[in-house]
Amino acid sequence: MRVLIGGGSGFVGRELTRLLRDRGHEVTVISRQPGPGKITWGELESRGLPPCEGAVNLAGENLMNPLRWWNESYKKDLFSSRIDTTKTLAQAIAASPSPPHSWVLVTGVACYKPSLEAEYTEDSSWTPFDLLSRLVKEWEAAACLPESVAKTTKQVVIRPGAVLGRDGGAMKQMLLPFWLGLGGTLGSGRQPFPWIHVADLAGIIAHALEPPTDTSPPAVPQVFNGVAPALNTNYEFTKELGRVLRRPTIFPVPGFVMNALMGSERAVVLTQGQKVKPKRTLESGFQYKYPDLTSALREIVGS
Ligand code: NDP
Repeated sequence: MRVLIGGGSGFVGRELTRLLRDRGHEVTVISRQPGPGKITWGELESRGLPPCEGAVNLAGENLMNPLRWWNESYKKDLFSSRIDTTKTLAQAIAASPSPPHSWVLVTGVACYKPSLEAEYTEDSSWTPFDLLSRLVKEWEAAACLPESVAKTTKQVVIRPGAVLGRDGGAMKQMLLPFWLGLGGTLGSGRQPFPWIHVADLAGIIAHALEPPTDTSPPAVPQVFNGVAPALNTNYEFTKELGRVLRRPTIFPVPGFVMNALMGSERAVVLTQGQKVKPKRTLESGFQYKYPDLTSALREIVGS
């Protein structure tokens, strides 16, 4: 299968590319920068969709970019980098004389309202309630294909929690302070912490790229929660990471400090959380390599 991956040069994209190539598939990345094995977004717009059986979009300005201050220009970039690239790819798919059989967008669990009690599955209904949930709404809407194309192209939306892996995402920023024994819970620590190992997220995306089994796929995108089946709190995550690293975790960071450092609209992803269950992901037969924190953190830390 030939697969086109928007933002495939990033943390998740590199893992997905490795997995797909190992399985004998061909990958082309869509990037802002030209290079071998890549096309640019401008080339996609001017030349149309290259021949492919699967397409994925992972592009987006990093929400946790430590080099960017939380302000209107950053928020604008978070929206436009996701919505514009998704629209461009969806439009190229719709305009293609031979559209791919699968089109996968990766968004996030920020659509589900943080709560200590509520449990969410892919069937849970939700309406936007803050900046990040509005982002998810507009992002997912940008991916919808016209009915005529949706008859043959399977549309999938995957909503991951925090993606854990050695080479990027939250762990890249957390490992050093934890190694130094400076780690601790964030906010109250009681908030749920939905997470997934990057290898499992790549596996779920690859699973979603498989050709549709039904002759006419549903007209609306099928949603899969990209989270591990284990439901953990920030406290459990912190203590387990400390245990695996054999380091103390005695320096909690209060919520107001997180808000001041990161901006409250962004800090919410760490100081609050949702209990998210991968109901449809499990029902689809997907087998997790890292279903629990201990196995995931051991693989990442390398012990
Ligand atoms: P990365 O931060 O690694 O970024 C992916 C790619 O997006 C980059 O390699 C870059 O490609 C492209 N990109 C970055 N900034 C912009 C921009 N301003 N405009 C256009 N393209 C841009 O993302 P991840 O791999 O970590 O995540 C993939 C997707 O999954 C993202 O949409 C993210 O929001 C979502 N997600 C990630 C989570 C995580 O914990 N990592 C959690 C939940 C959701 P290039 O430089 O080649 O153009």
